[in-house]
Amino acid sequence: MSETFRIPLLKDHHSHPLFYAAFSTAVNLQQVTTLDEAHRLVCDYGERDNSGIAIAHGWRNSQFDWPQADFEKLPPAAVFDVSLHSLLINQSGSEILARHYGDSVNQLADSEWYESNFRTVLNWFANLNASAEALEAFYGQLLEVGVWSAEELLLVDENEINLFEQAKLTDRTRFWAAPETYSNLSSSAKNQITGLKLFTDGALGSRTAALNGTYTDEPNNRGLLIYPDGELSEVIGECLDTGKSLSIHAIGDRAIEQCITTLEKMGSAVRTVPELRIEHAQMIDLEMATRAKGMGITLSMQPNFTSDSVEYSDRLTAELCQANNPFRMLIDQAGFECGKDLIFGSDGMPHGVQYGLQQALYPTHKNQSLTLDEFKAGYCLADESKGHIELKFGLQGIEYNVHTVQD
Ligand SMILES: [Zn+2]
Repeated sequence: MSETFRIPLLKDHHSHPLFYAAFSTAVNLQQVTTLDEAHRLVCDYGERDNSGIAIAHGWRNSQFDWPQADFEKLPPAAVFDVSLHSLLINQSGSEILARHYGDSVNQLADSEWYESNFRTVLNWFANLNASAEALEAFYGQLLEVGVWSAEELLLVDENEINLFEQAKLTDRTRFWAAPETYSNLSSSAKNQITGLKLFTDGALGSRTAALNGTYTDEPNNRGLLIYPDGELSEVIGECLDTGKSLSIHAIGDRAIEQCITTLEKMGSAVRTVPELRIEHAQMIDLEMATRAKGMGITLSMQPNFTSDSVEYSDRLTAELCQANNPFRMLIDQAGFECGKDLIFGSDGMPHGVQYGLQQALYPTHKNQSLTLDEFKAGYCLADESKGHIELKFGLQGIEYNVHTVQD
């Protein structure tokens, strides 16, 4: 007999709601393992939106290569890899995109340009299909997979706030904005921003997360840091001057170290931030964790990325696969507390209780495991006033039922 448990609905601390809402009609390739199948899905896309480009996301480049020559044979198409940090686009797709956004579109294939303009690129696609209706539909889908709220980690522009207001969803998100986006907002919009968001490296999917070592399948590649040290402290300083919270994306060990060392050098200024977060922190070690804890930094992590240890074993050393998402070390040795300074989200890869909980409870490496109580403390609403999730752990894995208060 299987036992049942219940937990409150989830608050996802890291998502990109407008982008994913705009993508709700896009092709999802997360479960696709062959190039043929991917081709078929992109071709079948048809006229699902007004943009004229078949948009797909979730391509796992660890599963199959996608030669540009094959890609050119498809109708206008743009395919994001599962990390979103690299994009395949064909000539006819570029032409459509360039009609909206000009010649910068031609630089999409340059990975350094892409990382430096990551926010801009996501915004291009978010804006192709953004609407209050799409947002509403997306938050409906989130609820079906057990998620009540989802923080927006990269506000597209001021119009996104209007769309959230029209959809009456402002109580189910918090807005984080890149410094350039923030400085262009009206003062009333600025008031609605929780914090600023910076990137210090790329992602594992695109081999741009900054590592101390090299990628095993690209011996000259250590990933990339977005800022030289001096520039990073300048940018952080400007963010702190706004008095807002600050969230910093750092995945690879080299980026995490740069981020923590830079923050330490800034001294007492970092103590006054309402909330100071590192996003992802996947390759954090005990020394970095202890220093981060000492500065009052919150780690915003994604249990679903625990499976990167398997997915990216084609490009990471065995040690780094082991070092990914070291939750036991963070909690048992560095003293992080779930729900206080260790919080969870999904980055939309994928959203929902099932995959994240599966990875949390049954990870590849012991050091990655979380208890159900820890998962609940770091990921769930404080109470069941919005609803709850009923969980059943059986031989088939985790089954769940979502009950909202209206039920
Ligand atoms: Zn993200």
